[in-house]
Amino acid sequence: VNAHRARKRFGQNFLTDVSVIHRIIDLIAPSEGEHIVEIGPGRLALTEPLAARATRLSVVEIDRDLGANVVARFRDEAHVDVVIGDALKTDFAALGGGQPLRIAGNLPYNISTPLILHLLTSAGTIRDMTFMLQKEVVDRLAARSGTRDYGRLTVMVQSQCDVDACFEVPPEAFDPVPRVMSKLVRITPHRDRHPGATPALEACVRIAFSQRRKTLRNTLGKHYPHALLEDCGINLSERPGDLAVDDYIRLADALSRR
Ligand code: SAM
Repeated sequence: VNAHRARKRFGQNFLTDVSVIHRIIDLIAPSEGEHIVEIGPGRLALTEPLAARATRLSVVEIDRDLGANVVARFRDEAHVDVVIGDALKTDFAALGGGQPLRIAGNLPYNISTPLILHLLTSAGTIRDMTFMLQKEVVDRLAARSGTRDYGRLTVMVQSQCDVDACFEVPPEAFDPVPRVMSKLVRITPHRDRHPGATPALEACVRIAFSQRRKTLRNTLGKHYPHALLEDCGINLSERPGDLAVDDYIRLADALSRR
C-alpha cells in the first residue's frame, strides 16, 4: 500500500503514530453488536483495530486504488464491507438499514464541513460520530455563543447534537505531515428532536450570520416580523453571535408554525 502516493485532492494525510491510533480507538470504544462506519480508511491505520473489535464494519473510500486494497484485505472477513465511492453522496441511513450507526474517521479536511452537514441529514440513524478534524473546525463545532468561533456551523450542529471536543493531535502524527493541528471530536445526535435540520432553521441561521457584525435588526429584522422575533425573546440590537443555540431553535419553531 505504501507504494501509493498520497493524493492531495483526497485530503490524504495518513496516521502513523501508534499511540495516537490507540487513543482514537479507545475514544471510539467499539463494542459487541455495534455497526461501525469508517469514512476514508486510507492505509487502514484505524480500520485494522476497528475490524478487530467491531461486530460489523462498513468503510467508505473514494480513492479506487486504496479501495481495491481494502477489498482485497478484507475479502475473507464477512463482517467488513467496503463501499468505493464518495462519502458526500453515501446514503448513511440506508447503509444502517434502520439500525443505529457509529461513524468514525480521520476525515479529509477539505470536505469535513459539508460531510458533517450531509451526515446530519441521517442524524436519526446515527448514534454518534467520532472524527479527527482540523483543530479550528472542532473549535467552531464546540464553540459557545459570544465567542469568535461561534457561527453558522456551530448552530447547525449543536441544534441537533451534543459536541465534545476531545484531544489535539500534532502534525507529526501523520504522513505526509499536514500544515495544521488536528483535534478529535465526538458528535452525538440528540435522540429526542431535530432528525435533520428544518428548512426554517437553515434559513434563519443563514440570514442571521450573513452579516456577522450587523445587528439582528438589520438581518433577521428585514426578513421576519419584529413582533414574532420579540415573542421569541430575541433582542434585535444583538448580533448573530450573541444568540444561543436555543434561541435559534425557538425562532425556527415559531417560523415553521407560522
Ligand atoms: N483513515 C486513514 C488514516 O487515518 O490514516 C486515512 C485518513 S486520510 C486523512 C482521509 C481518507 O479519506 C483518505 O483515505 C481519502 O482517500 C479518503 N477520502 C477523501 N475524500 C473522500 C470522500 N469524499 N469519500 C470517501 N473517502 C474520502
